[in-house]
Amino acid sequence: MVKTITKNNKTYFICQECNFAYKDKETAAKCENWCRKNHSCNMEITKYAVEI
Ligand SMILES: [Zn+2]
Repeated sequence: MVKTITKNNKTYFICQECNFAYKDKETAAKCENWCRKNHSCNMEITKYAVEI
């Protein structure tokens, strides 16, 4: 399950597998599905990760 956190009045979605944060839930869910299945990160997805 993608985790939702709020920081500085902004909502971020966290992949619980790799802990990368995303601005949209869809990308976070995609990342989490990938991470769980492949036990690695997909650069095409993690490039959308944001620093929080
Ligand atoms: Zn991930």
